[in-house]
Amino acid sequence: RLITIEGIDGAGKSTLAAALEASLARAGTPVVLLREPGGVALSERLRTVVKDPELRVDPAAEALIYAAARAQLVAERLRPLLDEGRWVLLDRFVDSSLAYQGAGRGLGVDTVRAVNALATGGLAPDRTLLLRLDAVTGRARQGVRGEEADRLEREGDDFFATIAAAYDGLAAAEPERFRVLDATAGPDAVLAAALDALADLRT
Ligand code: C5P
Repeated sequence: RLITIEGIDGAGKSTLAAALEASLARAGTPVVLLREPGGVALSERLRTVVKDPELRVDPAAEALIYAAARAQLVAERLRPLLDEGRWVLLDRFVDSSLAYQGAGRGLGVDTVRAVNALATGGLAPDRTLLLRLDAVTGRARQGVRGEEADRLEREGDDFFATIAAAYDGLAAAEPERFRVLDATAGPDAVLAAALDALADLRT
């Protein structure tokens, strides 16, 4: 099973991912937690490239770098793990690119989707947990991370509001795959909602 976790910055994706991994593992589910971009050596290197402000990565280049990192992760790690029958929890996947590069950077969701069809070879999540949060709360929660805070300030609330709206649109278009969770709830409540949202996959 491939489970992806999505949401804007500050929504609590990595907190939920870690809690979910621990909870599923305790229940005997063979689970692996990975993050994007990353998870394999090439993709971790691309992560440092795409996140380097000095490189001033152009939006189209950004979409392609994320897609390249994703292609390598799918081929080298994701497919083999899924073929072995493992569950993979993935902190961000194609929907992040549709929301951030497609909507946020204005490349167009369909264009970014086409690029990612090449990257994934059609591999799609069995379920996507969308941690739903408004842009202002997301930024407030990010305040503690220094350099991130600067970048978020630069990009502004409008950028993240656009991304949040794009996520809502993606979830509405695929209600079977998406489960929308209220990210303003506490970590325990979010975890409980996430487990609930996966219950039908665990039989
Ligand atoms: O995954 P993480 O929360 O560390 O991502 C941090 C930043 O990476 C986000 O704020 C976003 O700007 C950027 N990102 C992006 N496009 C993606 C995925 C992440 O711009 N597809």
